[in-house]
Amino acid sequence: THFGFETVTEAEKRERVAGVFTNVAESYDHMNDMMSFGWHRVWKDHFVSSLNPGFSPLTSGPDPRAPQHILDIAGGTGDIAFRMLHTAHAVNGNPDVRVTISDINPAMLSVGKQRSRTLPASQQAALSFVEANAEDLTKTKPLGMSLSPTTPTSSPVTNSTTATSGIPDNSVDLYTVAFGIRNFSNIPAALREAYRVLKPGGVFACLEFSKADKYPILNALYKEWSFRAIPLIGQLVAGDRDSYQYLVESIERFPSQEEFRDMIVDAGFVVSGANGGYEDLTGGVAAIHKGMKP
Ligand code: SAM
Repeated sequence: THFGFETVTEAEKRERVAGVFTNVAESYDHMNDMMSFGWHRVWKDHFVSSLNPGFSPLTSGPDPRAPQHILDIAGGTGDIAFRMLHTAHAVNGNPDVRVTISDINPAMLSVGKQRSRTLPASQQAALSFVEANAEDLTKTKPLGMSLSPTTPTSSPVTNSTTATSGIPDNSVDLYTVAFGIRNFSNIPAALREAYRVLKPGGVFACLEFSKADKYPILNALYKEWSFRAIPLIGQLVAGDRDSYQYLVESIERFPSQEEFRDMIVDAGFVVSGANGGYEDLTGGVAAIHKGMKP
């Protein structure tokens, strides 16, 4: 089965992606380990330590331990956000770093919220969860609230006035998105929103599956694994072949390292580094892209 995304509208894609992540939310963490042989943990650790939250002043200023606001977009079940908090609070001793986990899917966020209960209390206090579409961060709602309440029984306290605050311009020090952006219907719109919410000097950082075609043998093995094994594992372990088939196809459709770097530049970011704005991980199976808002 095949979703045929080429012919669907943005709204239809969004709906299908929502279905996929609602279906996989409960099995997501185990499946990640199984599908990547645990590599996703190594990549995530490297991503977070390369950003070193709570230590390096992400915005200019005299105090390297200044308060920072990290926005983890498509944060799902919390893997990046929890690592960010641990590095900032426990490794770098900066308790003034707070993290907002934002995701379009309340089922993924609920699993994240549940998982966060094992974090130290100070880290839990620095964490918040919001539902939002990465392509329009002017509308956000705290997890569990309804953007457009349909039930007339909802009390005045839980309806829209507090629910739709949005993320202000120039308010974020570090924007992270891990294994999320390839699911977005409109990636340029999401990059424009990243640019809008970041402070000048703030950093956009993305970890995503990418192209391993510089290494033909690795690439062939990787393709074999993704197209044959992953949908099968999805079927056997999570009882859901289609969702995992979608995930594999979405990796295939995502632009190359250079094309994606150019999209980041088009959104106004400054990229730097020996490789011209990105770092390959495991031969390009995944890659990290970073850009700074000037
Ligand atoms: N960042 C987490 C991680 O690395 O484990 C979760 C990654 S998960 C593969 C992708 C996430 O993207 C899902 O939680 C999904 O709901 C979210 N997502 C998909 N489309 C989105 C959109 N338009 N806006 C925000 N989040 C979106």
